[in-house]
Amino acid sequence: MAIILFYRDGYKLVETPYLGMEHQSAIAYGNEYKTGYAGTDFSGIGQTWDYIIIHETAHEWWGNNITTKDIADMWVHEGFGSYAEALYVECTSNNATAIRYLNAQKKKVKNDLPVVGPCDVNCEGSGDMYAKGSLMLHTIRNIIADDDVWFSIIKGLQKDFALQTVTTSQIENYMSKKSGKDLSKVFEQYLRYKDLPVFEYRVKSETPFAIEYRWRADVDGFDMPVKATIGIGVREFIYPTTQWQTIEMPNLSQKNFKVAEDLFFIKIKEVKE
Ligand SMILES: [Zn+2]
Repeated sequence: MAIILFYRDGYKLVETPYLGMEHQSAIAYGNEYKTGYAGTDFSGIGQTWDYIIIHETAHEWWGNNITTKDIADMWVHEGFGSYAEALYVECTSNNATAIRYLNAQKKKVKNDLPVVGPCDVNCEGSGDMYAKGSLMLHTIRNIIADDDVWFSIIKGLQKDFALQTVTTSQIENYMSKKSGKDLSKVFEQYLRYKDLPVFEYRVKSETPFAIEYRWRADVDGFDMPVKATIGIGVREFIYPTTQWQTIEMPNLSQKNFKVAEDLFFIKIKEVKE
C-alpha cells in the first residue's frame, strides 16, 4: 500500500497576530512561545508545553491528511485533534497523566447540542466536538481495552483514508470493523444526541451489598460496557443494558463501589425510591 501523507506538501509555522489556526502546509501560530493556551494552563496536569503547536499540528493528520466532506462532521478534525493532545502527554509523560489530561477536558463540555451537525446545509455541530469528541475516543479505547488494536485503528485510519474526504459513518464503520466490536450505539449516543448516557443504580441491599443498574440513554437498546469496582481492588467490565440488572458485591459497601468515570465519559446517578 502506498502511503502518501501530508508532509510531502511541507510543514511550516507562520507567526501571526492571532492565536492559531490550522492550514495545510503553513500553520498560523500566535502563542508567543508561551506554555499552555496563551500562557493559561487549563490542562489539569501543569501544562509545560505549547498548546497551539501541538493542537494545530494534530490537524496535519486530522483535517489535512483526512478531511471531512461536510463540516457537520468536523468532530473528526477537532475530536481526534484534541485526543492527539492527550496522546502527546502519554508519549512525553505516561498513561496516567494522559488520563488526568483527558479528564480535565470534561469541564469544557456543555452537552448543549449534538456533536454532529445537520448535513448538506453548511452547519457545524456543537463546540463539544473538541472535548466531548476526545472523551468519546478515550471511552472507546477503554471499551476496546486492547492498546495494540486501538493504535492500529488510529494509524489505520490515517493510512486507509489518507488524502481522502470522509464522513462520520465511514469512521464509525471502520472503527467497529477493525475493533471487532459494534460501536454503532456508542457513536450514535455521543455524536447525535446532546446528552451523555446515564448509569443509573439503586441500592438493593446494604448487607450483602447489592445494586440494580441500567443505562438511561436516548439510543434504543444502549448497551455500552463499562468498568466498575466490583470487589476490593477488582475493576472489571459490567454490561449494563437499558433493563435493570442486579449485581451482588459482598466484599463492598456503597462507599467503595465506583464506576470508572476516569475511563468512560458518562453520568452516574443513584436512583432513590
Ligand atoms: Zn482544532
